[in-house]
Amino acid sequence: MTDHQCQKLSFRESVDHMADRAMEALDMAPDVAVAIKSCNAVIQVKFPVKIRGKVEVFSGWRAVHSTHRLPAKGGIRYADCVDQDEVEALAALMTYKCAIVDVPFGGSKGGLLVDPSKYQRNEMELITRRFTLELVRKGFLSPATNVPAPDMGTGQREMAWMADTYKHLNPEDINYSACVTGKPVEHGGIRGRTEATGRGVQYALQEFFRHPDALKETGLSAGLGGKRVVVQGFGNVGYHAAKFLFEEDGCKVIAVANSKGVLVNEDGLDVEAAYRYKVEHKSMEGFPGGRYERGGTKRALEMDCDILMPAATEGQIDIENVDRVKAKMIIEAANGPITFAADEKLNKRGTIIIPDAYANAGGVIVSYFEWIRNLSHIRFGRMQRWHDELQGLAQTEALENVTGKQVPDSFRKKISSGASELDLVHSGLHDSMCSAFQEMWQTRSEIEKVTNYRTAAYVNAIRKIARSYLDIGVY
Ligand code: GLU
Repeated sequence: MTDHQCQKLSFRESVDHMADRAMEALDMAPDVAVAIKSCNAVIQVKFPVKIRGKVEVFSGWRAVHSTHRLPAKGGIRYADCVDQDEVEALAALMTYKCAIVDVPFGGSKGGLLVDPSKYQRNEMELITRRFTLELVRKGFLSPATNVPAPDMGTGQREMAWMADTYKHLNPEDINYSACVTGKPVEHGGIRGRTEATGRGVQYALQEFFRHPDALKETGLSAGLGGKRVVVQGFGNVGYHAAKFLFEEDGCKVIAVANSKGVLVNEDGLDVEAAYRYKVEHKSMEGFPGGRYERGGTKRALEMDCDILMPAATEGQIDIENVDRVKAKMIIEAANGPITFAADEKLNKRGTIIIPDAYANAGGVIVSYFEWIRNLSHIRFGRMQRWHDELQGLAQTEALENVTGKQVPDSFRKKISSGASELDLVHSGLHDSMCSAFQEMWQTRSEIEKVTNYRTAAYVNAIRKIARSYLDIGVY
């Protein structure tokens, strides 16, 4: 492929090319490669909704990339620029993502062409319920086959409306609440889902920093403390990842950017305060703890920093700005923030990239836990928490009897407290992120042709997917 062709790739083609590198490294037969890369199904729906006395027609899509595992899983985004190519690319990323972190789902993604800021709450409800009706009727939403989740422009509110619409259409389905994930806790959601993607990004970085050999390649010193982080995108994912890295790991978040501008503080921003300010004032401008620069949000990607975290949307680092990216390492909290052409350049230059399909998998991992919780109709930990507490108390008592000494209260509390649902969610998420990193690390060390983490992640995913095709056959 020429440089020119490479620069003109669509998002879906860009994802396919990234998969191709892994398939080449695996010497995969071309027919199997095509089968894995193909998008299984995609629908476009157009439906009318009466808003403020006038009929408006909305366009939406849902792509199912793979069904080697069911349900197919992936978010639904609401945006004023979404199209079929984009949802197909994102659905493919979901397939690879689930395989990388061992979540037993296929990949899917949806999008609705709508700017939520232009509509009132009741209007968004009408639009969402009508879109859900289209998806359910056409077989693109159910607990067994296709389970949406939040994405850009959607959240708990939309998921609750979707679940409720599905329930009314399928009153006999005892598992109705598993038809979408990311619901409010009061409506079958799971604790920790909202911040799960950001939490997963934090765990991914912590795990990376636990590997001295991995760290050496970046030229960064040991320990996350004091590392200068730039975050592009201050929505749910960027905010939570930045907050945890600042509050718990001591990172210096020197800049956060959103679509309107960049907030900078070389000494580090108070992330929570900046976010609260943004929510209250609907802008970051005027925040006392930093310098605000209007516009040019892409400039944040070019700032000198240790860790760059694109957490906005796809295609942000492209052939035009890639040479100006100075970060020592990049962690992709967004889906597809680096184009294939830019990725090739960064790889050649030796910039370390923790790829999206691994780095932002926290959301779907916790969605998997939510789905299981919904199917089992019980909160995690409900049966054993009290039992574990009693066991812990018995152990401290035994210790006191044998030693004749009193166990300090702080220890007694630690030993005898049973795990809450949130503790279990964190434990499962942490374990999934660490195991997947170790698998990537191993693949990178074992296969000579695999020279970066993205290809390693894709190799791991494609091996698992191919395995399931080869085991059960194609039909
Ligand atoms: N939209 C999220 C993603 O891109 C979450 C998907 C899910 O939880 O199904 O990974």
